[in-house]
Amino acid sequence: MAQSEQPEQHTVFPGKGNTNPSNILPQKLDLNSSLKFQCHPGVSCFTACCHTIKIILTPYDILMLRKRLQLSADEFITTYTEPTYLEKTDMPGVQLKLTGDKQACPFVTPEGCTVYTDRPSACRYYPVGMADFHEGRNEEEDAEEKFFFLVKEAHCKGHEEDKHWTIGEWRADQGVDLRDEMNKEWLRLVMRRKSFGLQASLSEAAKRMFFMASTDLDTFRSFVFESSFLKTYDLDQETIDRIKTDDVALMLFSFTYLANSLFGAPGLQIREDKLRSKIEQLQKQQNEAVQRAEQEYKELKAERDRMLAERGQRPGSPKED
Ligand code: SF4
Ligand code: SF4
Repeated sequence: MAQSEQPEQHTVFPGKGNTNPSNILPQKLDLNSSLKFQCHPGVSCFTACCHTIKIILTPYDILMLRKRLQLSADEFITTYTEPTYLEKTDMPGVQLKLTGDKQACPFVTPEGCTVYTDRPSACRYYPVGMADFHEGRNEEEDAEEKFFFLVKEAHCKGHEEDKHWTIGEWRADQGVDLRDEMNKEWLRLVMRRKSFGLQASLSEAAKRMFFMASTDLDTFRSFVFESSFLKTYDLDQETIDRIKTDDVALMLFSFTYLANSLFGAPGLQIREDKLRSKIEQLQKQQNEAVQRAEQEYKELKAERDRMLAERGQRPGSPKED
């Protein structure tokens, strides 16, 4: 990247954690809007923003970081993250676990970021935030609903540097387009949950599934290949082969599965035979319930007739109670 060999920047995805809203400039920007900013090891604030910050990790962030560090998902999550809730919802996620008195990112050194080429999405966005209102709409509408905004904090001296970009150039330099693509469907799940509000219930099991699929692809893969999953869902062989070996394909598939199972979104079909046996099971349960109800009715009626007979009344007599 042009502006620094080993930088900085962080934000909660898609905005910066701990950012005071008053530091967000009240101006909608687009890809052609101009930006004057540069971050490099020579700025006086270098790495200042890698401390006391909240950095939410997306599934793609976790995948890239753990591969770089050659850790299993479980080892990475346990060592470098702590639990949090996403976007003020009850959806569980993880954030980087800060260390020491200075509450530093575990990957920062005085020389800069030690995982720079695999740094989280949030670190790439700063200081350009993105707002994206796309719930339930198509791609064209998504594009129309997307805009950017600038975060300008007093401690960040990058704004005093004399480097000019368009927002589009800055984003390309930071490699955020790929991140946008990789994070999009996952973020959409969180936004869906947010738009439903907390009155709409999501079971604890559903939340656990969301957390597992979002943070631990190893376990999600076992869930797909070692449970009755493939007997339940209709997946073509090509998809099965791909998600067996390709982590990114598995991650994207997990988003489709979560959207389908949590919110009833299309994208996954239950197998015909499963569906048929489920329908048969429901019909059987329904028939049994009807039979039980008929039997109970007969028994009640017989009991009533018996009581009336005891009192010397005939069923249907006007004197009966
Ligand atoms: S991951 Fe790198 S860029 Fe992001 S906060 Fe940590 S040290 Fe800074
Ligand atoms: S210039 Fe801004 S983004 Fe760069 S290190 Fe300083 S505070 Fe962080």
